[in-house]
Amino acid sequence: MRTYACQCGTPLFFGNRRCVECELHAGWCDVCATTAAVSVEGTCLNCDTNVVACTNRTTYDVCNCFVDAATAADGALCRSCQMTTVAPDPSVHGNLRRWQLLEAAKRRLLYDLRTVGYPDDQLTASPPLTFRFLSDTPEKHVVTGHADGVITINTAEADPVHRESTRQQFGEPHRTLIGHMRHETGHFFWMREIVGHRTADATQLFGDADALPYAETMKQYYDQGPPEDWNERYISTYASSHPWEDFAETYAFYLDMRAVLDTLRWNAPHLVADLGDDLPAMLLSYCQAGIVLNEINRTMGLTDLVPEVVPPPVVAKLQFVHDVFEKP
Ligand SMILES: [Zn+2]
Ligand SMILES: [Zn+2]
Ligand SMILES: [Zn+2]
Ligand SMILES: [Zn+2]
Repeated sequence: MRTYACQCGTPLFFGNRRCVECELHAGWCDVCATTAAVSVEGTCLNCDTNVVACTNRTTYDVCNCFVDAATAADGALCRSCQMTTVAPDPSVHGNLRRWQLLEAAKRRLLYDLRTVGYPDDQLTASPPLTFRFLSDTPEKHVVTGHADGVITINTAEADPVHRESTRQQFGEPHRTLIGHMRHETGHFFWMREIVGHRTADATQLFGDADALPYAETMKQYYDQGPPEDWNERYISTYASSHPWEDFAETYAFYLDMRAVLDTLRWNAPHLVADLGDDLPAMLLSYCQAGIVLNEINRTMGLTDLVPEVVPPPVVAKLQFVHDVFEKP
């Protein structure tokens, strides 16, 4: 993630709502796609456009975005908030905080996709990418997942205690909201970019998704666990469950890597020797940085930031994802 700067010179971080120094309102400007300060008169100080705050910012404080005042109707939502078709009920205790965290992770995901150069119109083409943030009820458990462009996330994932206990239960190195966003978008990406376009190549690398009935294959995975040699072929244990999950996990790792490299590019380019644009250079940089970042985390008693080891078959899968992003 890039660190931006206010007109007064103070750093502005992606999630900021205000400059801590000059106290101007700040946030993501949809017009110039930058985190910027906004003048008292309502002008984005990066692109000089008259802007108004997203309604979810003014009404619920779950967003930090600004939109073009010239085209914004009353109650206008920013580009990110428009993608949420079902939001948590804010009258339920704790939901506002959950919603805030979910929207923050989604905005970060959209920044990721912009960073890797994925065209906006691929997200809005039919069926468009949308999000539903749903809570369990006594009658129905909400399963986090993707179907036909709709990503559903169980709002319990925004509760750290629930998330950590689930992470332990499934033996995952990380379980985060941004991780969920990246993984589920992998299923969307499969629908939009792979099926009917590159199915044969994908089948060679990830296996024949259509030949393996999803529900039965997943049940078998949960009953028996991953194959013993999973780490020679997959990026994670979960990736071994089904070709769709293999693709989504590989895709999520790719976005993790690109996001970390983007942060280094803007904040600590000296940490890595080469910030090149081809996949081998990126993987090398990520591994180099990973050694330092893991040691920093261990110093603080935290889990490794980059726990993955990337065997050659996974490099080939990552190259496939990289090539699709290069030529969507
Ligand atoms: Zn300032
Ligand atoms: Zn702007
Ligand atoms: Zn918004
Ligand atoms: Zn999945």
